Amino acid sequence: LTSRLPAVGTTVFTHMSTLAARHGAVNLGQGFPDFACDPALVEMVSAAMRAGHNQYSPMAGVPALRQAIAAKVAAQYGHAYDADAEITITAGATQALTTAILCCVHPGDEVIIIEPAYDSYTPTVELAGGVPVLVQMTFSEAGYAVPWDAIRAAVTAKTRLIVINTPHNPTGTVLRQADIDALAAIVRGTDILILADEVYEHMVYDGQRHESLCRHPELAARAFVVSSFGKTYHVTGWKIGYVAAPAPLMVEFRKVHQYNVFATNTPVQHGLAAYMAHPAPYVELPAFYQAKRDLFRAGLAGSRFELLPADGTYFQCVRYRAISDLPEASFAEWLTSEIKVAAIPVSAFYRGGQEAGVVRFCFAKREDTLALALDRLARI
Ligand code: PMP
Ligand code: GLN
Repeated sequence: LTSRLPAVGTTVFTHMSTLAARHGAVNLGQGFPDFACDPALVEMVSAAMRAGHNQYSPMAGVPALRQAIAAKVAAQYGHAYDADAEITITAGATQALTTAILCCVHPGDEVIIIEPAYDSYTPTVELAGGVPVLVQMTFSEAGYAVPWDAIRAAVTAKTRLIVINTPHNPTGTVLRQADIDALAAIVRGTDILILADEVYEHMVYDGQRHESLCRHPELAARAFVVSSFGKTYHVTGWKIGYVAAPAPLMVEFRKVHQYNVFATNTPVQHGLAAYMAHPAPYVELPAFYQAKRDLFRAGLAGSRFELLPADGTYFQCVRYRAISDLPEASFAEWLTSEIKVAAIPVSAFYRGGQEAGVVRFCFAKREDTLALALDRLARI
């Protein structure tokens, strides 16, 4: 079989989690919480099953969940999406991203992707027959930043889509108003669409504000905005998320969605709809994760790792040049097998495998898990 994706192997997350399990390492690699979700949420999903919500949901998703999302987005970001025509429930954010790309990218269309980039974007553009145009973030002691001039320079008559991710995996960078203004200036007067991956929307720290594209009418009018219940409610294994977009874009999204998955898990949708009546879980999320971030940073402060800024997401990137000159993938494997703490090499988020001597740790862990990992990392 001639590969449709000759440039990719098995994802770095699968690789590092397998290695972590083999070596009995604390897994700070793949991003997922090691603590339980709210038992009330499990009860609401179970109740939905007992109530008989066990057959196909409507193709776009359970209406009550779409309405709950529309109400939440309106309250948080001031944008009124039509729950019927402008919101679709997906099998995780991953499927929303894939379907959005497949529905709008034609063969030969160019898609601007900012690296380091979440690993699904570039291969999905290739599956669509599109041409990924990769623009690298700048990297300095002050951390990673999006070079808007380079993005403007990368735009051509063939540019169909720009993918943005804020808060950003793996760097933790959070876009500010000035970034959004720069993006708006680039696309103004063009027919370029935007795919906004906002799965970490509730993990923004130090009192900063998440600049959802939903806050910016000019951009929301041309954007697919994607989020994930897995991140917000500590249930990554449920694989459920959603996309919001203006009706004409959503018509095309659903044409592809209906043949991708048709619909997603029904009882989970009902359970989430009931649970969303209580905003406390996501309102409390920034403080909850900021405490973990601060604990993790404090634990590494005296170590030979250099902490990079961590403004959002549940990831902390560190430089390790005082410890090793191994390439990032080898260093992450060494950390896993010898130090018994798994990490993700940031080079895996670049098609060209760019090296900066940086690995990513996930701090979405119980305090005892973080303490065990910190004890091991501080000894290096
Ligand atoms: N986008 C980003 C930036 C992510 O970090 C993740 C989860 N790792 C996803 C999308 C996928 O989310 P989900 O698990 O809901 O498919
Ligand atoms: N989003 C998670 C991460 O960045 C992992 C998702 C996955 O395993 N595909 O670690």
